[in-house]
Formats: sequence, structure tokens, C-alpha cells
Amino acid sequence: MFEVKLKDSKTFTCESSETIFQGAKRNGILLEHSCLTARCKSCRALIIKGQVENIQDEFVLSSEEKELGYTLTCNAKPCSDIELDIEDLGSYNIPDTKTIPAKIDAINYLKKDVVQIVFRTPPAQKLNFLSGQYVNIIKADIKRSYSIANSLRSDGKLEFLIKNYPGGVMSNYWFNEATIGDLLRIEGPLGTFFLRNIANVETVIFLATGTGIAPIKAILEKLAEQEETLKTEIYLFWGGRFTPDFFWEPEFKKLNLKYIPVLSRSNQDWTGDIGYVQDVVIQQNINLTNAQVYACGSEAMINTSQKLLTDNGLQESNFYSDAFVISN
Ligand SMILES: Cc1cc2nc3c(=O)[nH]c(=O)nc-3n(C[C@H](O)[C@H](O)[C@H](O)COP(=O)(O)OP(=O)(O)OC[C@H]3O[C@@H](n4cnc5c(N)ncnc54)[C@H](O)[C@@H]3O)c2cc1C
Repeated sequence: MFEVKLKDSKTFTCESSETIFQGAKRNGILLEHSCLTARCKSCRALIIKGQVENIQDEFVLSSEEKELGYTLTCNAKPCSDIELDIEDLGSYNIPDTKTIPAKIDAINYLKKDVVQIVFRTPPAQKLNFLSGQYVNIIKADIKRSYSIANSLRSDGKLEFLIKNYPGGVMSNYWFNEATIGDLLRIEGPLGTFFLRNIANVETVIFLATGTGIAPIKAILEKLAEQEETLKTEIYLFWGGRFTPDFFWEPEFKKLNLKYIPVLSRSNQDWTGDIGYVQDVVIQQNINLTNAQVYACGSEAMINTSQKLLTDNGLQESNFYSDAFVISN
């Protein structure tokens, strides 16, 4: 049994047979995470002191990150007492995960390869969640992760923005078979992609590619529900390949929001920004030293943004991400 110490001085015990994430959870401590299978980097942590053994190769970490001493808490088992540069997220009161039945309430094709699916849930079993979290949608023996695209609603409905992955098992269901009234199961909420305390933050930057806009839409909806107009400067950079990729329009009068859609390549009718979202953030000359960044979508965008933005003044601990990696 080893002792794990966090940045906020919290400590917990961890068996050599369990991962740091499991040890923390067993002790009532919640660490940042998403996929929990070493496929994304949400649970990346810097080891300040001590040694760990990895269950599988941490291929999502770059060799530079490995050399610096980063590990994935969902994949690392302690071999000594350790100290990590991460904090307990317990104070955010994340609702417990449960599995509930859910019926398809609406199916709207927003463009050829993106569908909005709305589920209704039983009134007695509404799913409580923090805006930005995701769930697993279960259909018989298929289970896939999807981010909830709305903030908590009083009617318990859950909206999802789903992309068609050609040849994908669940994609085939969403785009060819799904019918209003179909009964599936939803397991959640999951992950820790939600808004942190922004009271002392100058700028909040959201980066999305494709349907990675889903949890960001949910977070913006939640922010816009506040009584007073929020003064914090908010940027939303949304990357797509073609203009129809911007299938949702952010309209939040109560937010000081600057929305910048970004096409990855030039297009005759396009007068907006061109390139990659992270490069356009740099072009905007935003002071990143007192900013928080929330990135969701492709792994490539997340990895490149994290490096570029931290190289340009963003604190490592102020970058939060949810990568839409392939489901298990
Ligand atoms: C935390 C999390 C949240 C997610 N939220 C959303 C969401 O809100 N909206 C959404 O559209 N998707 C989301 N995804 C992705 C989703 O879980 C599935 O991966 C995706 O819908 C494909 O499932 P499928 O059964 O159609 O494809 P599969 O049958 O699983 O795969 C078929 C083929 O498609 C390709 N493929 C599958 N998934 C991906 C992927 N994620 N990236 C690149 N290529 C892939 C691969 O080549 C694979 O071989 C999320 C993933 C995670 C981990």
C-alpha cells in the first residue's frame, strides 16, 4: 500500500494492484478523467516524486511528455509513495453514475452526416449531470460514448449531436435504423469535462471540431442561465471543413461571447477565418496567462492546441479537454 499526495495536499492510499484513479475513487477523491482506458489524455498527471508502473503503453503521451514525467492516472499503478501535480475535483459535486432507460423523442438531421437525437427519460429517474459531461448510450451489446449537448432541463430530456462515422456500428443505427420511440439505455454522467471556477479568470476559450461542439453548447447554455450578464470574456472557436459543418448558431445575449467559426481550407463563399482553430486563437492575440481553455473533438486538435497554447502562456492546469476517441 502506497501513499499518493496531490497538489492540494490531499493524500490517499493506493494498492500496487490498482490504478491511481481507482485508488483515489476508493478513497472518495475524484481525479480528472474521461475514457479511463488510456485512449485519451484527460487524466494526464505530472509525477513530481515517486515511480509508477503502466498497465499498457501510454501511446497518447508524446515522448516529450513521458520524459517530463507525465503519466495517465487511469493506467498507472504505484510502485512507491508518489506525489502528483493534480487536484481532487470532489468540490464540484459530480452526480453519481447510474443507468436509466431512455426513449428517442426526436431525430433531426442537421446536415448529411450529423444528426441531433433527443431522448426522454422517466420522470422518476432523471439523469443529473454537470454541463459538459458525457454518457454511454447502450443498445443491446453496443455501447458508445456521447456528450450531452444541452444543460440540465426540467423535463429531463437529453440532446446529442452525433456524427456519422462511415461503417460505424452505432452510426449505422443512428443514420439508418433509429426511430422515434426506440428504447435504449443511458449510463452516466461520465467524465470531468465541465466548467471549473471562472471567478478569477479573465478569458474562457472554447475550442471545438465537428460534433465536439456538443458539450461546449451545454456549458454555454448553463452559463447563459445565470441571472446577470456574465462579464468574463468568452471565445468560441469552432473548426469545420465546409460551411454546413457549422450546423448550430450560438446565440447567447447574456454572455460576452465572441464566436469565431474556422474553416480548415479556403472556400469561395467564405470570408471568415481559415486554418486550424488553435492557430486562429494565437492570431487573436488573446492574453493566455489568465485564461482557461476547454477543447473538445479530435485528438489531433486537442494535442496540438495543448502544446501550442501552453507554449504561448497558458498554464498547463488551465487546459481541459475531452477527446472523441474511438469507443472500446
Ligand atoms: C468521451 C467521448 C465522447 C464522445 N462524444 C461524441 C459526441 O458527442 N458525438 C459524436 O458524434 N461522437 C462522440 N464520440 C465518439 C463516439 O463514441 C463513437 O466513437 C462514434 O460515434 C463512432 O461509433 P460507431 O459505432 O459508429 O463506430 P465504430 O463501429 O466504433 O467504428 C467504426 C470505424 O469508424 C472509425 N471511428 C469510430 N469512432 C471514431 C472516432 N471517435 N474518431 C475517429 N474515427 C472513429 C474507425 O475507423 C472505426 O474503425 C465520443 C467519444 C468519446 C470517447
